[in-house]
Amino acid sequence: MLRLSLTARCNLACPYCCPDSHDPPELLTQDERLQLVSAASALGFRRLRLTGGEPLLHRGLEELVAALQPLRSTPASPGEPGLSEIALTTNGVLLSAERAQALRAAGLDRITVSLDGTDGESVALMAGLAGGVAAGEAVLDKVLAALDHAHGAGFDPAGGALKLNAVIARGRNEDQLLPLAQLARQREIELRLIEFMDVGNRNGWQPDLVLPAAEMVRRIGAHWPLVPLGRQAHGTASRWRYRDGAGHLAVVASISAPFCGDCDRLRVTADGVAYTCLFASSGLDLKPWLRGPAAAGESLNGALRSLWSGRHDRYSEERAEGQSSGTVTTQRPHAEMAYLGG
Ligand code: SAM
Repeated sequence: MLRLSLTARCNLACPYCCPDSHDPPELLTQDERLQLVSAASALGFRRLRLTGGEPLLHRGLEELVAALQPLRSTPASPGEPGLSEIALTTNGVLLSAERAQALRAAGLDRITVSLDGTDGESVALMAGLAGGVAAGEAVLDKVLAALDHAHGAGFDPAGGALKLNAVIARGRNEDQLLPLAQLARQREIELRLIEFMDVGNRNGWQPDLVLPAAEMVRRIGAHWPLVPLGRQAHGTASRWRYRDGAGHLAVVASISAPFCGDCDRLRVTADGVAYTCLFASSGLDLKPWLRGPAAAGESLNGALRSLWSGRHDRYSEERAEGQSSGTVTTQRPHAEMAYLGG
């Protein structure tokens, strides 16, 4: 899967993510994004997720989604390279009915909306809102409306085209587990609970702020019994089915049960730097292959191929091994989450 960030800026200030208020210089142009996705799809990347920062801040989003359509694989040639899925991750604040419809019409397949609480207080805390409860309620209203807009535009949660992400941090919003599950169950949306991760250098991550995914599942399962479905190959989420038929729950346990060996994600930042791991300290700047003299020489496909075949990142597994053996893993500086796009 290719995760392409369109901006590092965000309209929220979640303290676990700490987005920037400005973009790095030299953002990729729309044409460069298309070249990049085209090269990645020729190499076999089939799934694309557009992210940020907040991708709805990017005015050319709908235009980009439309321009990506010719890169899809066709039913007539299923074995040939090509995109099979184009998805978006958003906080939903700017997802009006018009934009949801425009994105659907442009050919977007899936939307994942992020929301970490179901009341003004928890939303304000998790989104880093200065205005307190009232500001949290205002954001919550917009995100709930965004879920309606997405559903109304044809992103059907029953078919997996609309999902909800929630980061859970111990002692901060763990009390939101059941209310979030309730909200998702009522709307028949799959809720994906994410362990608070040590991405970046400025979110104050500590191991004791992580509520392990198994504990999240235990608490929700005690209320609404769950049947395990497992984790799909290359997937980040382990999935569960509610025994009463009210849909699915998923957990992303990248801290307590890392899945590095199975990770197939390539992340490209809004300024064209490719990272083979969410926890990497550096990436490969692809701009020389997209512009300037190198663009005429070694191909972008070649640069991507050698980056991909040379990857050996397994930071989460190394962290877990260090924790269980009592040794401290070296704290390398990581790139920030909003830059990498999650
Ligand atoms: N702004 C968009 C959104 O809110 O979905 C897209 C970018 S955001 C970086 C992508 C996802 O990463 C969100 O679901 C967010 O909650 C999650 N995220 C950010 N920082 C995280 C952290 N430290 N640990 C776990 N998940 C995190």
